[in-house]
Amino acid sequence: MTGAPPGGATHLECTGTGESVPSEQLCGVSAAGKPLFARYDLPALREHFTPKAVACRRADLWRYAEVLPVRNPAVRLSLGEGWTPLLDAKRTADRLGLERVWLKDEGQNPTGSFKARGLCLAVSRALELGADALALPSAGNAGSAAAAYGAAAGLPVHVVVPKDTPAPILEEIRALGADLQLLDGLITDCAAVVRQGVEREGWFDLSTLKEPYRVEGKKTMGYELVEQLGGRLPDAIIYPTGGGTGLIGMWKAFDEMEALGWIGSSRPKMFTVQAAGCAPIVRAWENGADHADPWVGASTYAAGLRVPGAIGDFLMLRALRASGGGAVAVPDHAMAQWVQTLGADTGVFAAPEGGATAAAVPLLIERGMISSSDEVVLFNTGSGLKYVGMSPLD
Ligand SMILES: *Cc1c(COP(=O)(O)O)cnc(C)c1O
Repeated sequence: MTGAPPGGATHLECTGTGESVPSEQLCGVSAAGKPLFARYDLPALREHFTPKAVACRRADLWRYAEVLPVRNPAVRLSLGEGWTPLLDAKRTADRLGLERVWLKDEGQNPTGSFKARGLCLAVSRALELGADALALPSAGNAGSAAAAYGAAAGLPVHVVVPKDTPAPILEEIRALGADLQLLDGLITDCAAVVRQGVEREGWFDLSTLKEPYRVEGKKTMGYELVEQLGGRLPDAIIYPTGGGTGLIGMWKAFDEMEALGWIGSSRPKMFTVQAAGCAPIVRAWENGADHADPWVGASTYAAGLRVPGAIGDFLMLRALRASGGGAVAVPDHAMAQWVQTLGADTGVFAAPEGGATAAAVPLLIERGMISSSDEVVLFNTGSGLKYVGMSPLD
């Protein structure tokens, strides 16, 4: 292949009504107030965009340029995001009584979390479409990822986070040159401050699923899994869920890959793990609901899971059901213990969100939701270094 492959969506589609919206201008949610998904001409890509064609490309998420929204290769920001290792965690598998466990180590992304994938795409695309100031409310890691890509783009970034966000993350956001506001509240309260800046100052809002492209960055985790497993999918994926872009993104990627001829129609069971102190999706799943009521009094040291309400709740619940998966909650002390066990067994210092995925396994086995013969992928979504001093075991 000479030069960078072309990218770009054909249009955007409302995830609520299916309405089609043009994609070549800055936009937020649909007229119905629902997230927008980018759509591509997949049949036209089938012949040339193949696992074989991609195999020798650059080792970052831009290897999937054809199914990403950015058109101009010159605005594809890059700090080395994606193509993280999929580690064969043998001792963890033995300990959990599973046939095979893979650990996808997203802590190796720029800014130490998989938020880099989503913000890489969102900021690149905002730059391409002419945004001149960016903003987002964050539980922490999205803020530092936005700050990093804003710096790479040369665009100002305004970040609003809860004041008890882990200190290493606050220091990182400041060091990356963003304007940082601390608030006595949760991510949902921070969102109200961002909305004001959007109305008064014309900031472009990068909130989870309130612009169409963070999910496009996160979906690359699904493409990577298939490539790294040699063209197949695992039996189950266990994913620590906050706003849900990772889960929703991978589910979207599987449909795209089927349309591209990369995989067949079978899917992994998708499991959401949340913190016992903030589990709106688990509660909705257990109640058989289509939407999740906001969680009152959200509390957990896993900052990425401290999300009391999510605009993509219905998309997560739909994916969990369609996949034959489910949702479980684990307490903070179990996450913290598993951070230590995973670390000693694998050499990966996981974020508490990563620890939560391992902590979920015994519960899922006990409830008959996964079996010992399953091949399971645990997502360690961030580096433990970002939570130093926060563990309930300290
Ligand atoms: C944001 C975050 C999560 C939750 O991810 P979503 O895709 O928003 O559900 C999990 N882990 C970490 C480390 C995070 O920063």
